[in-house]
Amino acid sequence: MGLYSGHINKLIDELAALPGIGGKSAQRLAFHLINMPKDKVKRLTDAILDARENVRYCKECCTLTDSDICPVCANKNRNHRMIMVVENTRDLAAYEKTGRYEGVYHVLHGAISPMLGIGPGDIRLKELLQRLQGDVEEVIIATNSSLEGETTAMYISKMIKPAGIRVTRIASGVPVGGDLEYIDEVTLLRALEGRVEL
Ligand code: ZN
Repeated sequence: MGLYSGHINKLIDELAALPGIGGKSAQRLAFHLINMPKDKVKRLTDAILDARENVRYCKECCTLTDSDICPVCANKNRNHRMIMVVENTRDLAAYEKTGRYEGVYHVLHGAISPMLGIGPGDIRLKELLQRLQGDVEEVIIATNSSLEGETTAMYISKMIKPAGIRVTRIASGVPVGGDLEYIDEVTLLRALEGRVEL
């Protein structure tokens, strides 16, 4: 693309590499950024760098957090014997927003996908197994109802069951392929309450 200056092209390329941002959006954002006051641009870049530098994985549940142990895991009033397995931190936030789940979480940071070459070793399953050495009563699998989510659910269920721990799966009714974060709270709660034994 020889239409724009090299600096603009570079910015467009970087933005277009972000998930969910196509070429047109990248151009629109790039020109928006270039026209923004410099102090606003600095606040944005500082926020990005700051988040990248300071956000880490919770030592218990692997969610993204500002401290060694996330607020949910640090909360003694939560039921630490009930672990809900989710694909990512946004799914955790979706369940937290309902304010009705009393247990703790485990964040996988992905799902098993043979097609994309993502195997069990590429998500945080080892960490989950380690946690199960402790006092755990139930593992609720709340991965998405996509093919990858279902594959992951089956894998976890097979992995955990021999340990004699109760394994449940949130009820379907959550739209197929739908990201948990886009589902309303009532539907999430219904899925949780209607969970079935695996
Ligand atoms: Zn945690």
